[in-house]
Amino acid sequence: MFAGIFFAAFIPEIIESTSNVFFVVPYIFANIFLIVVAITYRFPLIGSRRKMRHDVTIAQPHTGALPVRDVQKDLAEKNEMFQMMVDISSSGFWTFDAATGKVYWSQKAVALLKADPAKVDDSFDFLKSHILESDWMHFRDALNTSMEQGENFSLNVTLLQKSSKEHRIQISGNVQKSDEGRPLRIIGAINECAEQATSEKQDYYVYRDPLTGVYNRKFFLEKLKIDVDVTLERPDYVFAVALLDIDSFGAINTSYSINVGDSLLRIVADRIKSQCRPSDTIARIGPDVFAIVLHDIQSGDYDADVLPLVRKIHNAVKMPVQIEGRDIYISVSMAVALNRDVDCVEDVMANATSSLREMKKSVNHGGIQFFSGGIREKAMRLYKLEFEIRRAIQAQEFVLMYQPIIDISNGNRIAGFEALVRWRQSEQGYISPAEFIPIAEETGLIIPMGALILRMACKQAKQWVDLGYENIQVAVNFSAKQFAMDSMLDDIKKVLLETNLNPRNLKLEITEYTAVCEAEKTIEIMKALSSMGLQISIDDFGTGYSSLSYLKRFPIHTLKMDKSFVDHVAEDEEDAAFARMVIGIAKSLNLDLIAEGVEQEDQLNFLRNEGCRLIQGFYFSKPLPPDLALGYLKEHYEPALEMTQE
Ligand code: C2E
Ligand code: MG
Ligand code: MG
Repeated sequence: MFAGIFFAAFIPEIIESTSNVFFVVPYIFANIFLIVVAITYRFPLIGSRRKMRHDVTIAQPHTGALPVRDVQKDLAEKNEMFQMMVDISSSGFWTFDAATGKVYWSQKAVALLKADPAKVDDSFDFLKSHILESDWMHFRDALNTSMEQGENFSLNVTLLQKSSKEHRIQISGNVQKSDEGRPLRIIGAINECAEQATSEKQDYYVYRDPLTGVYNRKFFLEKLKIDVDVTLERPDYVFAVALLDIDSFGAINTSYSINVGDSLLRIVADRIKSQCRPSDTIARIGPDVFAIVLHDIQSGDYDADVLPLVRKIHNAVKMPVQIEGRDIYISVSMAVALNRDVDCVEDVMANATSSLREMKKSVNHGGIQFFSGGIREKAMRLYKLEFEIRRAIQAQEFVLMYQPIIDISNGNRIAGFEALVRWRQSEQGYISPAEFIPIAEETGLIIPMGALILRMACKQAKQWVDLGYENIQVAVNFSAKQFAMDSMLDDIKKVLLETNLNPRNLKLEITEYTAVCEAEKTIEIMKALSSMGLQISIDDFGTGYSSLSYLKRFPIHTLKMDKSFVDHVAEDEEDAAFARMVIGIAKSLNLDLIAEGVEQEDQLNFLRNEGCRLIQGFYFSKPLPPDLALGYLKEHYEPALEMTQE
């Protein structure tokens, strides 16, 4: 009878809560069942003629006072029945006793939590260790509210699992109150999420990266939003976002094959999975970028709590990989940001991506970069600059200056100009290319900007040629990205055709670093340029570690000795020795040599004595706007001169 009343007491509340279907059904059955049992005991004639108790098989008419029953046995039986009902129900049950603080978990509840029955304990820590931390916090809040305000609750939580499949369960709780309305205990149910079975398959494709099986960007951002929302409510909740980028993945794809690239991505995903804890969320959010949300960070101290986790992942992923019988060596860059001072997903992601950018750019790329405030500020500045560059390309704010290159062996006649870009901003005057070229390169904006520069320089050269300076040669700087473009040769041909400039009046400058980066490809492109009649200079020579064997194979015409080696030639014996060596290399390879950044007379004298005849530097002239460059040309041009060898 007690149990029947006990269950009946909950019916209105349970039915009220429509989301509790899994809870309601067994409860209603249990209730009816127990009421019937109770009635059968209390009023055997109304019930079946057969008694339910196994020791009494024949119905006896009730003639007088009820037989005295064994109360203990009765209670034990009821408990057993309750336990059986709990066991056969498809729901798991739990109870929380407010007086003792103890929690009871039914066997089915343990099974639904995918927990080890041997490790069940009588507290909520058991639940905490089996669900996502953010979900645990939601649960804890719901439980507290429920105890304070007597409200029932129901929420879906995600189980922590080793497998990459997400599994969600529904946990509900109903409060039992004393006559005075004081919460006595919470009786709760655990069920499979109703939508789980049907949507699991669908979810797999909607939320998974089909190649690696980890989550996709969409899921990752949704999950991150939940975590950020928890942060806003609870500042003590700490998590970290780690980004992992495979360095030079494009080169692996092109040097091997796309299949090898795909296998590599799968291996990397598996390695990340093997190092992460069940509570972490792993996703592939870009072609070669993985993101991980690291939960359960205790103090938010990078060195103590975050670095060991990240380092473990980094070390595992960067191990050489064997694919199709080949050993592939990989390098990975990682960046990590905590959820400190963030209001939205965009903030966390911006912190992590700006740190990754910083790491990829640094000479130590292939390491781990932790986010700091300075990085974000810098990233914001870069972002603004990128936006400004886009606008400036449209507004044609980029102009060219022309710095003369002087032949000191021939009466300081002009041997050509180098075109140097400037950004003309009305308020600030001119901005140096050192500030915006690296960003333009990084963002790819160098491509449209470079096309603009090439067209301007060719147009200018053609004007000077038409004015009678037929041999004038204008050198244009080409960045690595421009040089790597498949369409580069066609683009140059198009501009030459458009401006009607003879290729011999144009020279391309590529840095030594660009040239040696993909040397074989560079050689092919240089050959094609050469056959068009164009000349090529290797800029900043001495800074890019090119080997002599490559230099010999590059079909180039000129080396430009970097300013840093010219600076101290007059007073530093080591620099002087280096400059002599570079001059010697140019001579032995039969190349022209231009010394850059010559400012002082003693530098000039040294270079002259060592046989370097082509000089560029403030000693002769700073870069000049077109009208002043023309003036310079008028004074220093020698019509019959062949300026550089062809
Ligand atoms: P760079 O190609 O090595 O150009 C030479 C740099 O040295 C120029 O700086 C020039 O103004 C500077 N310079 C020349 N003589 C002297 C001197 O005597 N003293 C000092 N202190 N500096 C001297 P600028 O114009 O600031 O250009 C810097 C770099 O930006 C260039 O180095 C080049 O790598 C890049 N750059 C400039 N214009 C372009 C362009 O149109 N396209 C691309 N891709 N890069 C460019
Ligand atoms: Mg240059
Ligand atoms: Mg240079």
